[in-house]
Amino acid sequence: MFNINNILRKNIKELVPYSSARDEFKGEASVFLDANENSYGSPLSRSYNRYPDPLQWKIKKRLSEIKGVPPQNIFLGNGSDEAIDILFRAFCNPGIDNVITLPPTYGMYEVSANINDVEVRKVILRPDYQLNMEGIAEAIDDHTKIIFICSPNNPTGNSIDRQDIETILTNFNGLVVIDEAYINYSRQKTFIQELTEYSNLIVLQTLSKAWGLAGLRIGMAFASEEIIEVFNKVKPPYNINEASQELALEALQNVDQVNNWIKETVEERGKLVAELAQLPSVLKIYPSDANFILVKTTNPRGIYGHLVDQGIIVRDRSKVELCEGSLRITIGTPEENKILLNALKNFQESR
Ligand SMILES: *Cc1c(COP(=O)(O)O)cnc(C)c1O
Repeated sequence: MFNINNILRKNIKELVPYSSARDEFKGEASVFLDANENSYGSPLSRSYNRYPDPLQWKIKKRLSEIKGVPPQNIFLGNGSDEAIDILFRAFCNPGIDNVITLPPTYGMYEVSANINDVEVRKVILRPDYQLNMEGIAEAIDDHTKIIFICSPNNPTGNSIDRQDIETILTNFNGLVVIDEAYINYSRQKTFIQELTEYSNLIVLQTLSKAWGLAGLRIGMAFASEEIIEVFNKVKPPYNINEASQELALEALQNVDQVNNWIKETVEERGKLVAELAQLPSVLKIYPSDANFILVKTTNPRGIYGHLVDQGIIVRDRSKVELCEGSLRITIGTPEENKILLNALKNFQESR
């Protein structure tokens, strides 16, 4: 059985968190002389002289309406990357504990592990990019604290089999992180409705992809209240700045705009796949549930260089295990996708 007290680091269990002026007084008042802010104002038309809400309740309330998850089950980070880093600092003893990643996948899990001096056990995906369940079972030991599952997976684009994820959630006594950065583009259902079912589940989502707000740096973690309390205890007190909070709240009113973009991106993805499939230099296009596609080519370095020469940048993943020969291509606007296709057609002719 999962028990948070069995996996939380001792220093975090005993931690007395920083208590800010905003934490100590929460009521209504008109004269605030408790936080050493500049009482006169700020040299901007919008006023930023006050510290922001440490727990970002306005955004969480709005997200709660959109996602159907109570506000107290939501953590907001300075990008998903902050949530990932906090998981290591709160749950993994450096030099002792380990985590499991499932490559080829998002690079930050391993980088964050390395920064925190936590061992990474890599269980490579099967050739069909699904989980090697026996390999995962063998890799788990008493010091395994977290398993990172990215679904839809970056850079392969596929969703991970739901039943396999459920098996892990049920049988693993540590935390299971499901990174759903690309869930809005997927045919698969999100796991955020399953929080009450699995006390060891953490779902990561972000405003950086479908919401079009990569520059604001806002990532979301959805989990049980006791896990969210740990996040809140460890995070820097004011981790989301006031400008980002205001803009995020404004953006979260425009759900329709975002849904239209998602629809258009998925349509463009289908068109791009159909067109790419015609090109002789394209060997394989992996099925995608994301806003990018992984494309296996005859000459990845040559194509990459040819595209760069025309001012088009894609991601060369050809040296990544199981992605040999492949480029990862983000779905652009219809105009951008046309430019890309034309450039790829020229590559054929110029050979
Ligand atoms: C882009 C991406 C993120 C988003 O990270 P942010 O820090 O929120 O911008 C998270 N996970 C995966 C797999 C991604 O590809």
